[in-house]
Amino acid sequence: MTKARAAVLRRRGGPFRIEEVTVADPGPGEVLVRCVATGVCHTDLLAVDGVLPPASPVVLGHEGSGHVAAVGPGVAGLAVGDPVVLSPAACRTCRTCVGGHPMLCERFLPLNLAGARPDGTSAYQDADGQRLNGHFFGQSSFASYVVVGAHSAVPVDPAAPLALLGPLGCGFQTGAGAVLNVLGPAEGETLVVIGVGAVGLAAVLAAAIRRCGRIVAVDRNPERLKLALDLGATHAVDAATDDLPTAIAKTADGRVDCVLDAVGTSATARTAIEATGFGGRIAIAGSHGAGAELTVGLSAVFGRTIHGVSQGDSTPAEFIPQLVAHHRAGRFPIDRLIRSYPLAEIGRAVADAKAGRTVKPVLLH
Ligand SMILES: [Zn+2]
Ligand SMILES: [Zn+2]
Repeated sequence: MTKARAAVLRRRGGPFRIEEVTVADPGPGEVLVRCVATGVCHTDLLAVDGVLPPASPVVLGHEGSGHVAAVGPGVAGLAVGDPVVLSPAACRTCRTCVGGHPMLCERFLPLNLAGARPDGTSAYQDADGQRLNGHFFGQSSFASYVVVGAHSAVPVDPAAPLALLGPLGCGFQTGAGAVLNVLGPAEGETLVVIGVGAVGLAAVLAAAIRRCGRIVAVDRNPERLKLALDLGATHAVDAATDDLPTAIAKTADGRVDCVLDAVGTSATARTAIEATGFGGRIAIAGSHGAGAELTVGLSAVFGRTIHGVSQGDSTPAEFIPQLVAHHRAGRFPIDRLIRSYPLAEIGRAVADAKAGRTVKPVLLH
């Protein structure tokens, strides 16, 4: 048993409370990780609002990075002290896992949102010994120590800045993977990104890595559009523009090959479809999508394809180290997207994210 400090959500809507909690020793196939930093993701906020499980009291957080602190029985390939980035759980035995798409695991939802290990237990307890739901996306890294399945802990280059890397395990791999793994634009093609928050800006950076000819950023926030232009976007379009699909098409001389909808509302999905050229590809990666309705109609025929994206359809053990290498080579400057806060200031971090003042808050443990 290890004592840890955690931001605990006691009731729907919050606030988070900083508490001393205990974390169980790692069981078979698990490791204990001492977290260095954890990103705050929109999905955490959906769980705070009760749109997503698990129920409170719960420890959320799913963009953790840290060092392996203890290794459970039967774990190979990880040792105490290894720097790791955490990523969601996958069963590794279902059809899609075996087929090389662990982030499309058929058991993804129960494994990552049930608030428990697969056997129903939780490694997390409060100071009174009461169970806390946890294992959120295989981790619950709003705690300074977490117990994770060994496959969720991805070893990374020890020279990389661990305090910046947690969001590679969700938001940044979602945006970068939507481009590099799902849409796969060829050099010179046009990519449009609707919504340039953390996911969308990671997609802009990936599009620059892919040498897209035109990279069009669409957002309502002028600061975000300016940042997108700094990071490699070639055009910026105000999302409040009338007839947005036409405005987008104009920036690309009418040739839009790929569109990433990083917002995922009914309206943005429709814009994405209507803005895409015949035969083009559309990826929908936004987590607002739970209640979104997709109007397909005539606009979606003519060879367009629509992909739903989970975690950039990545294999985290391979993709996260690739993103770390891009960062170290200066091609994936995630430091431009991140603002750090002490864990105790999680409330301010969430408020800044909601107000659009911070692209990606990262909590330091
Ligand atoms: Zn996330
Ligand atoms: Zn699976």
